[in-house]
Amino acid sequence: MSSYIDPHIHMISRVTDDYETLARMGCVAVSEPAFWAGFDRGSVDGFRDYFRHLTEFEPKRAGWSGIQHFAWLCINAKEAENVSLSREVIAMIPEFLGKPGVLGIGEIGLNKNTRNESIVFLEHLDLAAKTDELILIHTPHLEDKYKGTRMILDMLCDDRRIDHHKVLVDHVEEHTVRAVLERGFWAGMTLYPVTKCTPERAVDIIEMYGPERLMVNSAGDWGPSKPTAVPDFIMAMRKRGHKESTIRRIVYENPIEFFSQSRNWVFTPWEESEPAAT
Ligand SMILES: [Zn+2]
Repeated sequence: MSSYIDPHIHMISRVTDDYETLARMGCVAVSEPAFWAGFDRGSVDGFRDYFRHLTEFEPKRAGWSGIQHFAWLCINAKEAENVSLSREVIAMIPEFLGKPGVLGIGEIGLNKNTRNESIVFLEHLDLAAKTDELILIHTPHLEDKYKGTRMILDMLCDDRRIDHHKVLVDHVEEHTVRAVLERGFWAGMTLYPVTKCTPERAVDIIEMYGPERLMVNSAGDWGPSKPTAVPDFIMAMRKRGHKESTIRRIVYENPIEFFSQSRNWVFTPWEESEPAAT
């Protein structure tokens, strides 16, 4: 199996054995955006502890299987209805932006496309612009996706400070991918066993738009999801007769090209890493 990177996977909701499985399937690095805990966190200190988990313990746990771990920080759109807590979290995030492996602000976005979600989204954008961080975007699901993606793209395009090449818009599907790519953003396809995109639909999208600025990820979150969905995509691409070089570009070279815009992306390719001391 060829080396790949999962650019969006919530390993906090996964057991240590999953890291071992991912490593056996060829995963060499993961990037983990901040997300919802399954319940609304009660205070800014709850977020501070979560960010410590993402930046201190999770890289260690990934390292046990030889996987490099990177992280993104934010308050999730589901919790944005509490605007005052959101503001406290956004003010605290810079404590962590210099930590090793922190790639930027994310996953920020909209969930139910509400006014408060937009307010909190714009304040995250302002932080990212002021600190020159990469941005990872969550677009809403199902019936809210089309409208929510348009709202997000409008807010991004309205802020002249945002460099579109430094933004990854995730969970794109057939009806939203074009608008994202046309505006110069990167796009991520989230592969799920039940909702969102299947590996086969992701291959369809690659056949329609080509491999440029496109990535695939597994999300691996609380709901039914499959942490090895990227290898499933690799298999689906092979079955359709796509070249190994095209597959490698989507699952390995594209994430590296996007992430290497972050000063905290320090990545040692597996082929070049030193054998562990015995
Ligand atoms: Zn996510």
